[in-house]
Amino acid sequence: IAKRLEGKTVVITGASSGIGRSCAFEFARTAPNHSLRLILTARRIDTLKEVAAKIKEEVGAGVQVLPVKLDVSDPEAVRNFVPGLPEEWRDIHVLVNNAGLVKGVAKAPEILESDMNVMFSTNVTGLINMTQAILPIFKSRGSQGGSGDIIMIGSIAGREAYPGGSIYCATKAAVRAFTDALRRELIATRIRVMEVDPGQVETEFSVVRFYGDKAKADAVYAGCDPLTPDDIAEVVVFVAGRRENVVVADTLIYPNHQA
Ligand code: NDP
Repeated sequence: IAKRLEGKTVVITGASSGIGRSCAFEFARTAPNHSLRLILTARRIDTLKEVAAKIKEEVGAGVQVLPVKLDVSDPEAVRNFVPGLPEEWRDIHVLVNNAGLVKGVAKAPEILESDMNVMFSTNVTGLINMTQAILPIFKSRGSQGGSGDIIMIGSIAGREAYPGGSIYCATKAAVRAFTDALRRELIATRIRVMEVDPGQVETEFSVVRFYGDKAKADAVYAGCDPLTPDDIAEVVVFVAGRRENVVVADTLIYPNHQA
């Protein structure tokens, strides 16, 4: 895998915590001496800088890391993302569309419009906008209609909806539909469109879901054995590290108790 990632530039959205942060470490650990470039994006730039420093400390100087403040739900910020990068960082090969969140647990009649809007503008429109921002780079590379990897972090919630989660589940079902259509549109190219769908993973996800209430968030994981963000990151790097003609299109990973 290290060889296949050689010289590549990887963009990860939502790299300040959880799965995105673990993906950054996993890419760095897998190809520590292969001039890999990692562009880490999220809204919390100070946290991203800490992640970047920790990667350098743990993995060493072979991996270059660029933290970039980016709110994926802001279409103008996403449009300015690639032009705003230093020129040598613009030749992107892998996009991990990971930024996403759930806000609130509410039956359909009680869903707050503000929560609904933030979930759709981040999980769906944000992911689509990022894809559109990066695709021209992929399409202009090589002779076979382009090359590059887009890895969507969906969710088991996009396959199995649950009461109280209708909007989040709808956003993740939308991610599946978008991903499926895009994969078919790009089928004759070397652009791979892949989805990794986690089940329950212990991250800041539930803290965000309960508006910062840590006790409620912790209760979600009490008595079960959730996945760690590293469990997902290992799969993300695995799919990005396959031979160019191999598309690991659709992967569902959940802890045993959730089966
Ligand atoms: P975390 O809350 O730990 O991480 C979410 C990341 O997304 C953070 O880095 C956050 O950074 C970023 N983010 C949120 N909103 C925006 C935004 N508007 N623009 C840019 N970045 C944003 O949760 P997870 O790591 O668990 O979640 C990652 C992905 O995994 C999500 O798509 C989630 O839906 C999915 N998932 C999670 C599961 C779980 O059980 N944890 C299960 C299935 C799927 P910042 O706040 O700095 O912007």
